[in-house]
Amino acid sequence: MSIFFPRVVINLDSIAYNTQKIAEICHSNDIELVGVTKLALANPEIARVMRKNGVDKLGDSRLKNIIKLYENNVPGPYQLLRIPMISELPLAVKYADEILISMPETAYEIDKIVGELQKNVQIIYMIDVGDLREGVWYEHAISEIYEVSKQLKFARLVGIGTNVGCYGGVLPTKENMNMLLSIKNELEKLLGYELKVSGGSTVTLKMLEEGSLPKGINQFRVGEGIILGTDATGDRDIPYLKQDTVILEAEVVEVDYKPSVPVGELGKDAFGRTPHFEDKGYRKRIILAVGEQDVKPDGLIPFDKNMKVLHASSDHLIIDVTDCDREFHVGDILKFRMSYGCALRAFTSPYVEKLFVV
Ligand SMILES: *Cc1c(COP(=O)(O)O)cnc(C)c1O
Repeated sequence: MSIFFPRVVINLDSIAYNTQKIAEICHSNDIELVGVTKLALANPEIARVMRKNGVDKLGDSRLKNIIKLYENNVPGPYQLLRIPMISELPLAVKYADEILISMPETAYEIDKIVGELQKNVQIIYMIDVGDLREGVWYEHAISEIYEVSKQLKFARLVGIGTNVGCYGGVLPTKENMNMLLSIKNELEKLLGYELKVSGGSTVTLKMLEEGSLPKGINQFRVGEGIILGTDATGDRDIPYLKQDTVILEAEVVEVDYKPSVPVGELGKDAFGRTPHFEDKGYRKRIILAVGEQDVKPDGLIPFDKNMKVLHASSDHLIIDVTDCDREFHVGDILKFRMSYGCALRAFTSPYVEKLFVV
């Protein structure tokens, strides 16, 4: 067992449980479920659990992660989520089975490579319905996608997709989902074949639960719901999922009693930020050996609700524990849940050990 802290303790049973629950809702609505692994740095054990418990495909935004899944013999198919760089297309075509794109140039380059490599790849064309991240703007989606599909000789345009809740924080609604479906209907008339509609992510699960998702959306790409049991954009713990899936543990390295306001002339902190201090007199505080290089400190959620995470530098996290009932000692290990951004950093940081609950 690893003796290093900080560490992320991963509960594969809970991740399996979340996968099954989400797969159940998706499949009973005729929706294919892509399990998104980017939050967990495409951890092969987590990916395998997803695939064994109902996920139909694995998706990741990073080609390196997809190659990692492949090299660890995690069964695909694999979907490349981030609209690809031209420079990575030869490898993307080699390793991915489905690629999300948003530019004609990218489609033509994929087509050329598919012709050369004789390896087929399916293309999903992204449409921006308002969130302002990737996708052709919905007003010119039909003409652009029809034109592109006519030019493809080897690769096949199998569907359209959209992404919400990521840049603009736009929520999925009946209106924007119907917009996507009406584009699909028009395109199908022009193309003469059926298109897949990749319309959902964690935040769209709510519409499925409420029965308000228009019929016809038939692929969801879900990461956060499976791995954390939360929905950052919808701002909720998903009630029928588990949230004890990944827990951060960090060690106390100092216990002290100090003023709440620094003494001396104030500049900026190590990250160029100006921290805010409220004078509450002397406070009981602890320092944990974890910092910006390991986690996103404001995304740490202490198990003990009376702890107040104050601030962190690269390597030190300071918590006000004046209101806590218990005593703290150097060497104590404390547990936290994590927000999406915090977990992303913890999985990505080489300083954070990854340990599975057995
Ligand atoms: C990350 C990502 C997802 C998954 O989003 P979650 O909120 O983690 O479910 C879906 N689609 C795309 C394009 C992504 O980049």
